[in-house]
Amino acid sequence: MNDATRYLVGGVNSPVRAFRAVRAPAIMAAKGHGSWLIDVRGWRFIDLVMGWGALILGHQPVCVNRALSVQLRRGVCFGLTHEAEGELARLINEAVPSIKKVRFTPSGTEACMTAIRLARAHTRRTKVLKFEGCYHGHSDGMLGKQSAGVPTSIAAETLVAPFNDLTALEEIITRFGDQLACVIIEPIPANMGVIIPDPEWLRRLRVLTIKCGAVLIFDEVVTGFRVAYGGAQTLLRIMPDLTTLGKIIGGGLPIGAVGGSRRLMRRLAPTGDVYHAGTFAGHPLAMAAGIATLKELARANVYQRLEAVGASVAEGLQRAANRAGVALQVNRVGSMMTAYFCEEPVRCFEDARRAHAARFRALANGLRQRGVLLPPSPFEAWFLSVAHTPAMMQRMVQHSADILRKLN
Ligand SMILES: *Cc1c(COP(=O)(O)O)cnc(C)c1O
Repeated sequence: MNDATRYLVGGVNSPVRAFRAVRAPAIMAAKGHGSWLIDVRGWRFIDLVMGWGALILGHQPVCVNRALSVQLRRGVCFGLTHEAEGELARLINEAVPSIKKVRFTPSGTEACMTAIRLARAHTRRTKVLKFEGCYHGHSDGMLGKQSAGVPTSIAAETLVAPFNDLTALEEIITRFGDQLACVIIEPIPANMGVIIPDPEWLRRLRVLTIKCGAVLIFDEVVTGFRVAYGGAQTLLRIMPDLTTLGKIIGGGLPIGAVGGSRRLMRRLAPTGDVYHAGTFAGHPLAMAAGIATLKELARANVYQRLEAVGASVAEGLQRAANRAGVALQVNRVGSMMTAYFCEEPVRCFEDARRAHAARFRALANGLRQRGVLLPPSPFEAWFLSVAHTPAMMQRMVQHSADILRKLN
């Protein structure tokens, strides 16, 4: 029994860290360096959790450490506007096509909450449509029936449709279109594991939301600056009305952001009537780490390198599974991927849920014993960083091949 297990609820501050889905003891992190995570026992792991995607440059990149130490000497908290907020907002504006104005929050949860509030004010409607398996933080409305303590009146305002399903989407918009304030979606989901969106379906969603007058919110908390510098909307060439960001834009520090057109964004206080505030919104350390990260990502070849390492891991795993006679579906976009143990392609949450849980556990636990840390749940994305070298990922693939061979 340590202090964490004694004094924290379930020994954690966020449930997936308890490793329950793989029925293993939680990892107690001590240190991170590059692509490595070192636990309190001194064991080293190739880290594929990477701060749940926040650390695209790896642990402790020099540029971020340097920016943080400069900011430490200036002060960590002002409660006033400071220059770095404007600079990070400008970098985001220049990168993400649909974003003209930005509001920072201390978390992705708050960014999504604020975007939805803005959409409700703009449309004077209340209902929100989300998609099964997508995660938009832990606000009441976004958890709905998945959590106790959410009033049924609030859960009733959230409609849920299956991802990648055109018939279901058209039906729900025909029926509820004139009551919809917004549709919120992970354009490339990472929170039921990685799912590849059908581009035609997403384009149809854009058209239908314009037709029914609902605000389209792309939740790019994971995909922003991950799948491309300008996020999934750049990759897919679809413009949402509002975008939420988080994770990478804080370089590993707590952050979130809402962005969109001037017309929509100016509804926020103090220029508009939609309230949002935060003691730690635009936090100087998060701004400093975010600016350093984005500047590094803007350099040549970063995304090509991430793509190349990602592709070699995905292909290596698929080949190893085929050789072992194990059914495996590897979904990947750039440096994020998930391998599902099932026969059929995985295109929605229902498909993901059909995957073989015991096989995932065997892979995750086997890899951990061999020094590779997968996210401890089958419904999570595995994240690579620029610090993950082809050689070390080759080792990861070989370890996976050993484990897959013993599965049958
Ligand atoms: C992580 C995440 C959030 C929530 O962000 P927090 O900073 O954890 O509150 C929202 N949406 C998506 C897509 C996420 O992956």
